[in-house]
Formats: sequence, C-alpha cells, structure tokens
Amino acid sequence: IRWSEGRGWHDAQLTPYASLDIDPANMTLHYGQSIFEGLKAYRHADGSIVTFRPEENAKRFQASARRLAMPEIPVELFVEACDALVKQDRAWVPGAEEQSLYLRPFMFATEVGLGVRPSNEFLFMVIASPAGAYFAGGVKPVSVWLSKEYVRAAPGGTGAAKCAGNYAASLVAQAQAAEQGCDQVVWLDANERRWIEEMGGMNLYFVQGSGPGARILTPSLTGSLLPGITRASLLRLAEDRGYAVEEGKISVEDWQAGTADGSITEVFACGTAAVITPVGSVKSTDASWTVGDGGAGPVTMELRKALTDIQTGNAADTHDWLHKIV
Ligand code: PMP
Repeated sequence: IRWSEGRGWHDAQLTPYASLDIDPANMTLHYGQSIFEGLKAYRHADGSIVTFRPEENAKRFQASARRLAMPEIPVELFVEACDALVKQDRAWVPGAEEQSLYLRPFMFATEVGLGVRPSNEFLFMVIASPAGAYFAGGVKPVSVWLSKEYVRAAPGGTGAAKCAGNYAASLVAQAQAAEQGCDQVVWLDANERRWIEEMGGMNLYFVQGSGPGARILTPSLTGSLLPGITRASLLRLAEDRGYAVEEGKISVEDWQAGTADGSITEVFACGTAAVITPVGSVKSTDASWTVGDGGAGPVTMELRKALTDIQTGNAADTHDWLHKIV
C-alpha cells in the first residue's frame, strides 16, 4: 500500500514475493525513515487461523510512525493487510507441531532526494515467514550481557518506537555479548547506566519470592524501551493468577543483590518470537551471576503456558485477544 502527500493511502496490492527496485538516492537509505512490526498467526487444531492482538501492533506502528515523521496507517487497514497475506499464504510447515507464521509489516520512505527532511511518499508492506517451535526440544534459558558501554536509546530519542535505527544501534553491543559468550544484550538507561530497561528484542520480568505470594516486577515504560505487547499481556495474565504485579524501577545492583540473598527467584524475557525465555545467567564488565538455579522457574513456566495456551487455542481466550482470520 502506498502513501503520498495529497493522496493518502492508495494502491493496495497483493503480489508474489519479489525484489524491489531502489533508487540510490532513496531517502530511507540515507536518513533511515523505516519502521516495522512483528506478529504471529497461529493455526489451531480446528483449522482456524488467528493473530494475537493485531490491533495493538497497529497502534504501536502508528506511534512509531508519529515519532519518525511518517503517516499513520489506519488500524483497520493494517489488520486487513495482515489478514489478506495470511489468507493467501500456504507456507505452513508441514507436519510441524507448533504451527505459526511470522508476519512482518513495515513502512519506509520512497521519495528520492538528498535533502534532510521527511519524505512525501512511503510504501507499507507485509511479508511473512513460516515459524516452527522457537525452542525445539524444550525451553532453554538465555545468558545475558549487561551493556554499560553502549546504550540503545536515550530520553527524547526513538527507544519507544520500533524503527530500524534502534536495531542498527544495537548491533555492536550484540557482537560484544557474543564475544563474552552471552546470547543477548540487556540494555541499561542512558543517563546512569544503572536501571534495567529491556533485552535486545524482548522485555524483562523479575520474580520476587515464590508460590502464590510471589511479586512480579517489570521495568516501567520510561520512553526509552519498547512497549511490548507480550509484556502488556503478561501483566494481565499475572494479575488474573493473583500475583502482585508492579511496573517499576530495578537497578543492576538490585538484581545482583536480590539474586545473592535469594529474594529474586526468577527472571524472564518476553516477546512475540519466543513468547517467554528464562534468563539463566548475567555477565557485565565487573560481575557475573546465575539467576535462581539457572533454569526455568515455576512462575516463568506457568505464565508461559497461560499465554501460549491462549495463542494456540488450548485455553479460553478470556480477554478477547485472538483475531480470527480463517
Ligand atoms: N523490545 C524490543 C526492542 C523488541 O524488538 C521487541 C519485539 N517486538 C520487544 C521488546 C517485545 O515486544 P512484543 O512483545 O510486542 O513482541
């Protein structure tokens, strides 16, 4: 679907996957007006196909567009575009146990020019890729690297938007994490390099205590982390289960001390791709520690099951989160 100044949204098309012809002076290549979303379509045992809260992806896409001086695509049009592609797609993995299709809606500038200003033309597209079970052979805890040298986002920046530049800014830290033998980066706040923000492509949750009295904390949306849809959904599901849930601040020292004295029992990351991943161990320039027993804790697995059961049609959709396509 194209957008141009004066005309608005036009030219919706469903076409076979193909290369794009890009002008060397395309404004996206130089000034980075590029935003995206990620969501999954799930095929249920009864043959129906659903997406999970696609309106939330559409709203976040609008917020990203506003931050990047791009036009907002109406929520209904965004959802309709995803639905049209899912209906057309035949790329389900044959015989795979967990059937899902990853959808990638995105928008970028198409105007040609070398002056720095917002483009007057954009292209919105959705592409899809089959996704099997994220954890073949069981949930595996990740090891994380606390990035003190690099920050992903600063106050007033684009951290709350899902724009390409945020991911470009994170690549050197991700490489550093790999050099340190870690799977993922955990980002800290830009000012003090002390407050936990989020993981590379997932939000974080901290579990304090155990059993029904456990408290669950996730860093608040300060403006420099992405408001994850999985994060928001888990806040509800944890509340439903009677946990004391809090959005607040947690520092690196709190995390380390809480692990040492046993008050922090579990830590997990959450996002569309993996849904929930336990965090097993932490490393930074001056410390390293194991979270709990380094494995997947009971609250992590309980919430993981609660959410994946809704998504895959194995539990009632009590919050009306599923959008039926087929
Ligand atoms: N933070 C970042 C930086 C991400 O890229 C993602 C993935 N979209 C998330 C958090 C989790 O968001 P969601 O639950 O909506 O997938």
